[in-house]
Amino acid sequence: MSPQNELQELRKKIDPINLQILDLLNQRATIALEIGKVQQALGTTFYDPVREAAMLTELQKANNGPFSNETINKLFNEIFHATLNLEERDARKKILVERKTPDQHTVIEFDNGLKIGDGSFELIAGPCAVESYEQMEAAAEALSARGVKMIRGMGYKPRTSPYDFQGLGEEGLQIARQVADKYNMVVISEVLDMSLIPMMDQYVDAFWVGARNMQNSFLLRELGKQKKPVLLKRGFAATIKELVYAAEYIMSGGNDKIILMERGIRTFSKETRNTLDISAVPLLKQQTHLPVIVDISHSAGRRDIANPLGRVARVSGADGLMVEVHPNPDVAMSDANQQLNFTQFNSLMDDIESISINAKVATE
Ligand code: PEP
Ligand code: MN
Repeated sequence: MSPQNELQELRKKIDPINLQILDLLNQRATIALEIGKVQQALGTTFYDPVREAAMLTELQKANNGPFSNETINKLFNEIFHATLNLEERDARKKILVERKTPDQHTVIEFDNGLKIGDGSFELIAGPCAVESYEQMEAAAEALSARGVKMIRGMGYKPRTSPYDFQGLGEEGLQIARQVADKYNMVVISEVLDMSLIPMMDQYVDAFWVGARNMQNSFLLRELGKQKKPVLLKRGFAATIKELVYAAEYIMSGGNDKIILMERGIRTFSKETRNTLDISAVPLLKQQTHLPVIVDISHSAGRRDIANPLGRVARVSGADGLMVEVHPNPDVAMSDANQQLNFTQFNSLMDDIESISINAKVATE
């Protein structure tokens, strides 16, 4: 036989072996997926280093060459790694907040016709805290004149110092409800502790979880039992993954009406209160089917860049923005530096309305 023919003959022997290996690899992967399901039911992790070491020892004992034990280890480590990825991908399919198909979008509807997540760009606005009826009434009038349908009605404020204004409590919620009803707006309010939920439920249309509580799993689970929508703010040192899993706590409890909010993360930069992580918007839109709102107030901590941040939020693919607006920010009892007066708010609205974009742009 000529060397050419011999080469061809030998290659002919390799081809069916490749197919056999392929078939065996996939048989192995199918069984591994079954194992993954059992591990999930048992609540154990997929990665089991003791089991992997035992398999490698068995393989080395059985190895008669010509491959060295080192090479066999490398090849099987690749197989183990690929199997682990497969098991994890399969488990992730079960994450409820994750987007399963490109056109899966959660739209949250309120009694006054407000829809968040339907491709429109909505504003959530109002003072940092409810301070008085007059303050809320003036704010609601100015906001609703520009089409804002959801007002901040904060009765409880998470302040850094216990000696600072902590909010008017239930009285603040009563004021917010009265004013919102007058202007056909809906009220959203921060729930600082799960014990407040039943009382707050009488006044609010949606619950708000602040940055400091993003990983309060007891609060999240309790909100999972509620019927009303929950807005979940990103913690100031939370990764995107941690925010997604915090939302999963709520959704796995049975409440699928969740809105996410990017509010800036803590960095070395001192010019702004936080650093607005605008990349969180497309990432959250890509990974989840939930609406995403950008907080341009607490991210910056200053009002002089509200308009450019508002424009950035508008084109980021977000479903809306959140901004603090107060009749007289200079005398506000909290966050005086970042709240907009009505003139500044109107200028922000003019800016946002001047931008017309295809709402689908940023999710793709
Ligand atoms: C707020 O938006 O009212 C607030 C307190 O912000 P954060 O929780 O993001 O600090
Ligand atoms: Mn504030």
